[in-house]
Amino acid sequence: MRITIIGAGPGGYEAAIMAAKLGAEVTVIEKNVVGGTCLNIGCIPTKALLASADVLTTSLEAAKFGVFNDHTTVDLKQIIERKDKLVSGLVKGIEFLFESNGINLVRGIGKLIDFQTVEVKHDDGSVEKLVSDKILLATGSAPICPEMFHYDGKKVITSTEALALKMPPKSMVVVGGGVIGCELGQFFSRMGTKITIVEMADQILMVEDESVAKQLLRQFKREKIKVFTANGVADVNVQDAGVVVTLKNGEILEAEMMLLSIGRSSYLKGLNLEELGIKIDRQGHIEVDDTLETSVKGIYAVGDLINTPFLAHVASKEGIIAAENMLGKNKTAVHKAVPRCVYTDPQVAAVGVTEKEAQKRGIPYKIGSFDFRALGKAQIIGKIQGQVKVIVDEKDVVIGASIVGPEATDLLTELTVAVHLGLTAAVLGDVIHPHPTLSEAIMEALHDVHGKSINK
Ligand code: FAD
Repeated sequence: MRITIIGAGPGGYEAAIMAAKLGAEVTVIEKNVVGGTCLNIGCIPTKALLASADVLTTSLEAAKFGVFNDHTTVDLKQIIERKDKLVSGLVKGIEFLFESNGINLVRGIGKLIDFQTVEVKHDDGSVEKLVSDKILLATGSAPICPEMFHYDGKKVITSTEALALKMPPKSMVVVGGGVIGCELGQFFSRMGTKITIVEMADQILMVEDESVAKQLLRQFKREKIKVFTANGVADVNVQDAGVVVTLKNGEILEAEMMLLSIGRSSYLKGLNLEELGIKIDRQGHIEVDDTLETSVKGIYAVGDLINTPFLAHVASKEGIIAAENMLGKNKTAVHKAVPRCVYTDPQVAAVGVTEKEAQKRGIPYKIGSFDFRALGKAQIIGKIQGQVKVIVDEKDVVIGASIVGPEATDLLTELTVAVHLGLTAAVLGDVIHPHPTLSEAIMEALHDVHGKSINK
């Protein structure tokens, strides 16, 4: 079986390795660097920068722990250099995996010619045609930059440019209070930039419960990050000194830079989809069935190209399922328990339904919660902000959860397993959790569902 994959982000590269392990002859076409958005300009670089910001915060709070470190300074240039080094090491890791799995990596821009042929245009202008039995599309997404924002990559930037700035700007308006806006907004705030976040919805992190967003907002206020909600941008004027942003309520914001983080759209450019009759939905995603096959037999699509959450772990999982299906298995892509993580301080992590969604859908539910403040481990590490909240249905099955607080993104896995397997609060709460750990907050929240939390 010959498989051609266009795009080597998490969707494409994990599909390639799985297909090779299952015995396929695999070719991957990548126009840029392997690892895609996630590794080069997304998950890994943002978290590398946030790790530096965490070290800074810890250092500034060292005296509370009896440790004295009188002269803490930051150098964004060195933070960026550390990030670049880390990224290039991981890129080499994927290239090594390709080599060791016998995957053929072709550099260039891929385009569909027919349901078995992909044309590759190389940097030197030469063109090559690759014929295979199955094709996987995994070309990801790009930031949405409507014309009215006058994106220029210098004063009006997206996350891509923000991740390469060597000097923190004095001030920055962040348009969009979703995951990327909150993470980068807080990072630059900690680097000394005066940050103003503008969000159209009633709250930041609009998909999460209001109580969750409020906890993060409280921290933003402490850090003097200004947040406008239920407000949009009416006009953007780029000048020599910076950007003048007029909000819909008439407020005028002046800043050295503006970061656009209003979402991303599937990257379909140049793939030649219409010519082949591959169906695209109204929001511009490629339509796929449960097995991730497009409307054209033998051509599959995954990751940010399709209408599932634009997350690396979703893309990877879909890549693996698509690879198995291209090789004759009949796996279904299920998105019941997709973790949603925000790597701010405090971190935010959630899975399954939110409380507002349960109310909207008329699902009878019960809540259990526990504050980190009451937990020994949280006191030990000096991170007492936040809460674990668990949502169960009539049968006590965990259908959703959110965590705001230290290591929330790592802690969430236990609750993701519960939602994935349909475990009850009683069963999961019965498990002995190690002491003293942050995971005890989950156990206490599960007990709280039945009014049996010992420490609440
Ligand atoms: P991509 O990773 O976008 O890869 C697509 C690849 O296809 C790219 O390498 C591109 O160069 C290549 N390509 C495109 N067109 C062609 C063509 N015609 N020919 C050849 N190659 C082509 N997700 C998380 O889960 N956790 C996070 O913490 C997180 N943080 C993020 C932070 C930021 C700032 C951003 C922007 C995104 C973040 N994401 C995060 C989202 C995550 O990066 C994406 O969901 C994920 O990378 C999607 O994977 P993909 O394989 O679908 O596409």
